[in-house]
Amino acid sequence: MANTNNNTIKFFSGEQIPVELHKVRIVQKLFLKPIDERMKAMEDAGYNTFLLNTKDIFLDMLTDSGTNAMSDNQVASMLQADDAYSGSQSFYRMEKALQDVFGLHYVLPVHQGRAAENIISQVFIKEGDVIPMNYHFTTTKEHMELNGGTVLEIYTDEALKIKSSVPFKGNIDIEKLKDVFVKYGKEKVPFVRMEASTNLIGGQPFSMQNMRDVKKIADENETMVLLDASLIGENAYFIKKREAGFQNASIKDILLEMCSYADLVYFSSRKVSSTRGGGILTNSNDLYMKMRDLLVLFEGFLTYGGMSVREIEAMAVGIIETCDDTIINQSPLFIEYAVNSLDSAGIPVITPSGALGCHIDAMGFLPHIPQSDYPAGALAAALFIISGIRGMERGTVSSVRDKDGNDILADVELLRLAFPRRVFTLSQTMFMLDRVKWLYENRDLVGGLKWVEEPPLLRFFMGRLAPSTDWPQKLIAKFKEDFGDSL
Ligand SMILES: *Cc1c(COP(=O)(O)O)cnc(C)c1O
Repeated sequence: MANTNNNTIKFFSGEQIPVELHKVRIVQKLFLKPIDERMKAMEDAGYNTFLLNTKDIFLDMLTDSGTNAMSDNQVASMLQADDAYSGSQSFYRMEKALQDVFGLHYVLPVHQGRAAENIISQVFIKEGDVIPMNYHFTTTKEHMELNGGTVLEIYTDEALKIKSSVPFKGNIDIEKLKDVFVKYGKEKVPFVRMEASTNLIGGQPFSMQNMRDVKKIADENETMVLLDASLIGENAYFIKKREAGFQNASIKDILLEMCSYADLVYFSSRKVSSTRGGGILTNSNDLYMKMRDLLVLFEGFLTYGGMSVREIEAMAVGIIETCDDTIINQSPLFIEYAVNSLDSAGIPVITPSGALGCHIDAMGFLPHIPQSDYPAGALAAALFIISGIRGMERGTVSSVRDKDGNDILADVELLRLAFPRRVFTLSQTMFMLDRVKWLYENRDLVGGLKWVEEPPLLRFFMGRLAPSTDWPQKLIAKFKEDFGDSL
């Protein structure tokens, strides 16, 4: 393994450039359509990037969910899938791989991450409970609230700052955690939830020390620790890179130690193992028995849990590959390269770089657009029009209204540009950086959005908006002036 655990190779020029330690053997053709066609596609999609068709998209940076590249060994493993309603050998291969990587014995397969959240919430949360956590994830919060629980976000003061050099912005604030038990009493806290590489605050990791401290407080209060391991590989990578004492540890040992502090671990394998599916693990027979029957009811039999056997085989291989430094570091290194490039151009972006993608601060990028005119949504639309790149709005469009019908303004207005594992090349990354920089130069031309059709539930998925002025036409005119016939 000598020298394979860092693919930032030194260049003679002195530049820090991440190099792909894989070769591309199956490829998909992409199209970059002319700007007038991209504009038409954006209009047809109601200025909502979720409603675009991928035939109109050049670089799809919406999400890493279900979009990571599979390895040759994953695809090959699918051919040995053993179709059986119960007792499939594919399941036992996956169970063994998950036990090895997470160090926990009982494995409950589910069709995706939110299905694990459904079962865990139904079994362990009762009316009036509170669930302290570093930060919520959209589906997690919904399931917990459906079962009568209240989410308490006890992140540190640093967590929501855009610019920071704190290496572990995903930490739980331990003093706030102690206060939760004092204020509510331990019987109201079914578990403390830790989310690896905290998704909604910019893919920010927590430290091993923080996990140890959380475990200690949970033990003192006789409650459980739940670990959302959907992005655990990247969190382990950041512990290795940023936390004293782990520089020579293997990703596998870091994962095992992280999981040793959890009573329950669950994950979306759409992220962690580059396939579709998910799972719950525990070492406790008692906890396993509490969840087992609901698994059969909601997901399917114990040996497939709603997944196809092909996906199960690919998960077995994918989870082992997550322990390989050169596989797990590819996305964080590209993100680091991109974030540093934007940051040094003066573009407001969440620092330090984390997992999942680049998170551009739309309020800093477009200070002239009030939050009520959805700056992150406008930035996502503008970037698509000028580049064919699809990002995701994570701001007030993704929020809700209060009971008087007023928007609840989001804590942060972000445009997320996701880097699924081993999907984009460096020149594609450079194209993205170039177009974002051009847009920043011309940011005064971008205006706000307003609703045309606003669904009452999860409006960001299906809602339709329109520009509040004719700003897209002005942006397009400037693009043509600068780029001529170029795409
Ligand atoms: C994606 C995700 C989930 C939900 O998983 P799905 O497979 O999309 O249902 C839960 N937690 C985190 C941290 C995630 O990133």
